[in-house]
Amino acid sequence: MERTRSDERVKRLAAVLKSGAKLRTESCPECGSPLVEVKGQVMCAVCDKPVVIVRDETEAGRAIYPYVLSELEEVMVAKIDELTRILARTGDPDEIERLAETIDALMTVLRKGVELREYLREKDQPK
Ligand SMILES: [Zn+2]
Repeated sequence: MERTRSDERVKRLAAVLKSGAKLRTESCPECGSPLVEVKGQVMCAVCDKPVVIVRDETEAGRAIYPYVLSELEEVMVAKIDELTRILARTGDPDEIERLAETIDALMTVLRKGVELREYLREKDQPK
């Protein structure tokens, strides 16, 4: 059983390396296989997943920022859309005011998220 699995691993790794991938010194945090680099992207050939190489905890946190932020944006846009629909239906001035305030707050969060993501992207860009 174990043997078949590790044979499979080696086979996959060999196939990826043959297709031009570079072997890295790091190993996969999930399966322990050596990582490979394909077109500048580090990945695990066995898990078939990209792996983000980080040097310390802070960097690990920073590496997930863009993912967290784009998820935040998606949620904000969905909420604004939802509230806009409610706003279109209601005639109650109090509700309109409350909805407008909430939408305003959501848009502020959305804008900050977009700004932060752009800032991170610019910072990461090699000069
Ligand atoms: Zn792996």
